[in-house]
Amino acid sequence: METWIRDARLIDGWGHVTEHGDIWFDEQGIKGIYDRKSSKEQPHCPESSGEGQRVINGQGLTVLPGFIDCHVHPAGLQAEDEQTVTLKTYNSAMSLLRSGITTFRSVGTRFGADVTLRDLIDRGDIKGPRIKASGEALCITAGHVEEIGICCDTVGEAVKAARSQMRKRVDWLKLMCTGGVIGIGPATEFQLSREQIEAIISVGRAFATPTCAHLLMNYEATKFCVEAGLTCVEHGYAMDETLAQLMVQHGTWYVPTAVVTLMEMIHIKPSNAREEELVERAAAAQEKARIALRTAIKAGVRMAVGTDTGCPYTNPDTYAYVNELLLYEGAGMDRMEILNCATEKGAELLGISDITGSLTEGKCADITVVEGNPLEDLACVKDVRYTFCKGDLLYHTCQAFQACR
Ligand SMILES: [Zn+2]
Repeated sequence: METWIRDARLIDGWGHVTEHGDIWFDEQGIKGIYDRKSSKEQPHCPESSGEGQRVINGQGLTVLPGFIDCHVHPAGLQAEDEQTVTLKTYNSAMSLLRSGITTFRSVGTRFGADVTLRDLIDRGDIKGPRIKASGEALCITAGHVEEIGICCDTVGEAVKAARSQMRKRVDWLKLMCTGGVIGIGPATEFQLSREQIEAIISVGRAFATPTCAHLLMNYEATKFCVEAGLTCVEHGYAMDETLAQLMVQHGTWYVPTAVVTLMEMIHIKPSNAREEELVERAAAAQEKARIALRTAIKAGVRMAVGTDTGCPYTNPDTYAYVNELLLYEGAGMDRMEILNCATEKGAELLGISDITGSLTEGKCADITVVEGNPLEDLACVKDVRYTFCKGDLLYHTCQAFQACR
């Protein structure tokens, strides 16, 4: 079905805004983008919906490229059976549409359920957001989130585990290099060894597959990974100016997932000793998380947005995505730059900027429409009105939905 959004604010993912624009798209892609102020000859934009044609009045709305969440555990962090993991993965993928997310990177899902769902969506058997999948995370026995990973305790085991993920045709390899807020060991220590990290990154290189690593609060581990050629640092709370500069030099990406530590975990009201420990560990990471974010922004480290959805209390119901963006604003990033991070930069990190991530004629119609102007008030990003994936309307809060069809 063809969709026209008339007279809306268009923000393109590259830092440009058109205050009064029309956008026209269908399942094949974006067919046209027009500035109402331009004298350029424009095709007639229909006034109202008709046969095979949906027309949305865009006044008061902002149209953006679909948001990209680069750090999601779609089935959560618990060890569960394959059917449960598969159903949770699907459910989580669909719920992300409520936050305007049209693409996400899964960074640790048991049984490769993320790979399966990715393929079903790509083939068109199921409608849903685009997925970049890491399959199982590579971790150590008793290490951080071993429940959703493959435990490897020697270099040989690490190589074998990484190659087993390649056989499943994952898009990324996910390494658990240090302890975390959740789990047994301290967040400040190496878990995978230097030799294992190097070996896994080499497997990634051999299969032209990028690598991302959970690196919480260990400076040496983060530095080691950056120098070893890791593609993307996750969390990276040990960041200081020197490390940020090193990441700039190496072109290393950064997905801070600040929201999980700064906003979600602190709201937990502990009801048992384990939860008490969790809150304490989150509190210990907070100041470092805040400094890391500010430092990376100031140094100009390449950043994309990730929420760590799937961690307890982090999900679309807690507005994790918009809260992550608001933390970037609080740490000194310009609003337009934040929207670029949420869209085009995310696509660049995931290697799909040729097909999505910006409002560009010919690209896939992955489109999010929010109420209000996020350049004036970023929080309005939480008022998602429509989410389109590949031109299909998969989520809406339009009261007059029947009229919009
Ligand atoms: Zn995570």
